[in-house]
Amino acid sequence: RKIIIAIDGFSACGKSSTAKMVANKLGFNYIDSGAMYRAVTYYFIEHYINPSNPKEVEKALDKIDISFIFNEKLGFSETYLNGSNVEGHIRKMEVTQRVSEISALPVVRRRLVDQQRKLGKKRGIVMDGRDIGTNVFPDAELKIFMVADLTVRAGRRQKELLEKDQLVGLPEIKENLKKRDKIDSEREENPLRKAKDAYEIDSSYLTLEEQVEKVLQLATE
Ligand code: C5P
Repeated sequence: RKIIIAIDGFSACGKSSTAKMVANKLGFNYIDSGAMYRAVTYYFIEHYINPSNPKEVEKALDKIDISFIFNEKLGFSETYLNGSNVEGHIRKMEVTQRVSEISALPVVRRRLVDQQRKLGKKRGIVMDGRDIGTNVFPDAELKIFMVADLTVRAGRRQKELLEKDQLVGLPEIKENLKKRDKIDSEREENPLRKAKDAYEIDSSYLTLEEQVEKVLQLATE
């Protein structure tokens, strides 16, 4: 059995849904690294932190504590920022619009990557993100890189947002996905890349169950 499973890829390719189900099936811990960048972004928005002022950013980071608490009813962990559950805030468009800009800041990345590596000490984890296989856990036993067609991704994201009562038009979602992919791939610190030893999965024409099945097959090989 594999110990660390890293799932990276572009925005809205189904990484989190796949990772969550794979973790449940294997009895592993699921860690959503994107939720950590989202929680920091939410804090920055709420406290009017200026991302181009390094001192202000450092000071803010000292005041941020992010944790994951398993919700028995839901069957997965929820994100807490300084003790409050922020799940209802961090997936909103306001946060999504700014998260890539904030996660490109080297100080932000260093802090969160340190924390992610600590979380990885618990054996048996599935972590999804952008730099897990290349940077956070370059020795992960299994690395997956997910890709999918932009229109398919935007449609899926729109449906997810609707389930949370957020109506966002397809063009706006498409623009946001393209912009985040670009910032995430072009930033200097740990850009989004497919690790050399990662298996690529194109989820455009796969169901969630099929994606999970593929990863589980690779995990138990
Ligand atoms: O995975 P999710 O879409 O929730 O991630 C939100 C954003 O956080 C990404 O667009 C990216 O800018 C950033 N991120 C990152 N590195 C990670 C995970 C997420 O830079 N490992």
